[in-house]
Amino acid sequence: MPSRCCEDPRPDLILSLEGDPSGHFWVGACRSCRGALIQRHSFDDWDPSAHEEWSMYWWWRMDEADTAAFREAIAACPAPLDETCGCPVHAGLRAAKPRPLPPSTETPYDAAEVPRTRFTAGPDGRVRWSEV
Ligand SMILES: [Zn+2]
Ligand SMILES: [Zn+2]
Repeated sequence: MPSRCCEDPRPDLILSLEGDPSGHFWVGACRSCRGALIQRHSFDDWDPSAHEEWSMYWWWRMDEADTAAFREAIAACPAPLDETCGCPVHAGLRAAKPRPLPPSTETPYDAAEVPRTRFTAGPDGRVRWSEV
């Protein structure tokens, strides 16, 4: 498996932003590298084991320091795994996709780079994605 956040990605879900039968948008903290993976998929019948069938690579990564700070920033959320939560953390992170844009859909899975992203926490409690 190619590198996503590290050589051995083992993400534990820490924040669910969208989730329904046709889409997922979540942040997982990796037990291997202590960084994080952010994944967003929006099509039916997504099978994580069938890489060749993925039509989009909506994913990003955060490094260890950013992930630790992210955990603190989202601690204000009363229900991190509830994608219907309307708190400022959820509202801010749902408002825009992480940057930079993910690899093009033409990129083969094995070659698809996972761009690094960061976030900012505003004084109003809103958390937003930001570019490195
Ligand atoms: Zn990792
Ligand atoms: Zn929330």
